[in-house]
Amino acid sequence: MATLDNQQIGKVFLIGAGPGDVGLITVKGLSLIQKCDVLVFDHLANSELRKGLSESCEQIDVGKSPGRHTMTQEEIGKILVEKAKGGKSVVRLKGGDPFVFGRCAEEMMVLDEKEIPYEIVPGVTAALACAAYSGIPLSHREYGSSISFLTGHEDLEKESLRVDFAKFAEVGGTLCIYMGMGKLKEITQKLLVGGLSPEKPAAIVSQGTLANQQKVITNLGNLVEDAKREMLEAPAIIFVGNSVGLSGKNNWFEQRPLFGRRIVVTRPVGQVSRLKVLLEEKGAEVLELPLIKILPQEDRNLIAESFAGIATYEWVVFTSANGASEFFDVFFKAFGDIRSFGPMRIACVGEATADVVRKFNLEVELIPKRSSAEDLAQELVATDSLDSANVLVVTGNRNREVLIGLLETLGHAIVDTLPIYQTDFADVIDAPDRDDFVNSGADAIVFASSSAALSFIEQEEDLKLDKGARLPIHASLGPQTTQTLKENKLSVDIESEEATLASMLKALIDYFSK
Ligand code: SAH
Repeated sequence: MATLDNQQIGKVFLIGAGPGDVGLITVKGLSLIQKCDVLVFDHLANSELRKGLSESCEQIDVGKSPGRHTMTQEEIGKILVEKAKGGKSVVRLKGGDPFVFGRCAEEMMVLDEKEIPYEIVPGVTAALACAAYSGIPLSHREYGSSISFLTGHEDLEKESLRVDFAKFAEVGGTLCIYMGMGKLKEITQKLLVGGLSPEKPAAIVSQGTLANQQKVITNLGNLVEDAKREMLEAPAIIFVGNSVGLSGKNNWFEQRPLFGRRIVVTRPVGQVSRLKVLLEEKGAEVLELPLIKILPQEDRNLIAESFAGIATYEWVVFTSANGASEFFDVFFKAFGDIRSFGPMRIACVGEATADVVRKFNLEVELIPKRSSAEDLAQELVATDSLDSANVLVVTGNRNREVLIGLLETLGHAIVDTLPIYQTDFADVIDAPDRDDFVNSGADAIVFASSSAALSFIEQEEDLKLDKGARLPIHASLGPQTTQTLKENKLSVDIESEEATLASMLKALIDYFSK
């Protein structure tokens, strides 16, 4: 760390975030973001990158949009200098690559002048990413031997074009034009005047690499009209050149089955990610709206009591994946050795729960055909092994009465319950994507449990959609959740065959590909 007047000073990292898809940031960039003290960002950097930062990380939005400056370049420079002088590790996150029309040079010069140490981490620039996500080759041995990056208007305030497009018509190769949508007509005319044929292949990719990517692949003569018809807007890259005409038939990005669909995931924080990844891989845009939160059991005596007699149970029944994970967490804190678990038989409500148990190389003997408390109880009773048997039901604080009742009355078992965690309604006002949901709606909302459904119902007022927002269909992860939704007069449009995320994913894909 450098020093300035005997004071420790920090460092500034000028990092390219890539143009949209959060996966396009470099490994180095991501690791620096995760450990910085101050994050200075603008609107082109994907907001996903800011989720999960430590609470102590100060986040400063210096975003600009056309015609509206929230902060001048000078003010941004000042912030970088001040924060670094305060000893902080400062990340300046930029859309795409910092040195491609990103005004990084100005920020670098300020840092040089004030002798603040800095590093620069490149990013995937929009032209490269848009080309890849649209199957547009930028070069080809025979059809394109040069690639030019041009800007339609370098300075937001400048009215006229700074680049001599007619000259670039002579240069040929592949032209990638940034910030050109406001001057599309003028730019195409200049290229035609410069000698390019109206037949010259051309394309526009708008919102590239994002769930709402749109494009036209056409020719120079039709470019303006086609862009207008498809209502393409900034941010967009304009491509012109022969290699554009080779654009692939495999429309890999847009052909994914959930492309363009907005899907709301309501699982608790910390569990959102698996379903989110699955959905995103299939092209969906995922909104996070955790409706429940999981709280560990506070009553240590209750846990100690169940564990004291742990080896005396003949069956242990797990009613949820959360319950099973929490159970083993607490179990290993108490015992540290799996042999203390005893020789009991194990039943789980569904495959996802069983998967948690199997991680410890424990065999799951019973999983009901349908994942519901009733089915679990009925199938357990049918094993004829419950009469006077000690059974431990590991569960949350909801939906356990039915199961316990049936085990006792039908099976004549002696049931102990271990509410290993509690679920509580999470306040939707705090949800990361609540505003986005209310403003624009979604195509589907996934309810993974009855408690999530009940929480939704209780907080409906805070989730009222604005006018014109997309009305989502309701997807339910199993019969119990479906019943809760229906009892509360909410429609159920999709019910997954099994109570697993994979099955839910399949159900969503089937529904939306109809
Ligand atoms: N430094 C950035 C460019 C900033 S200038 C980079 O390297 O990508 C802003 C321009 O970048 C936009 O006007 C648009 O032309 C382009 N751009 C940025 N993100 C884009 C996206 N997701 N899709 C299409 N074009 C994008």
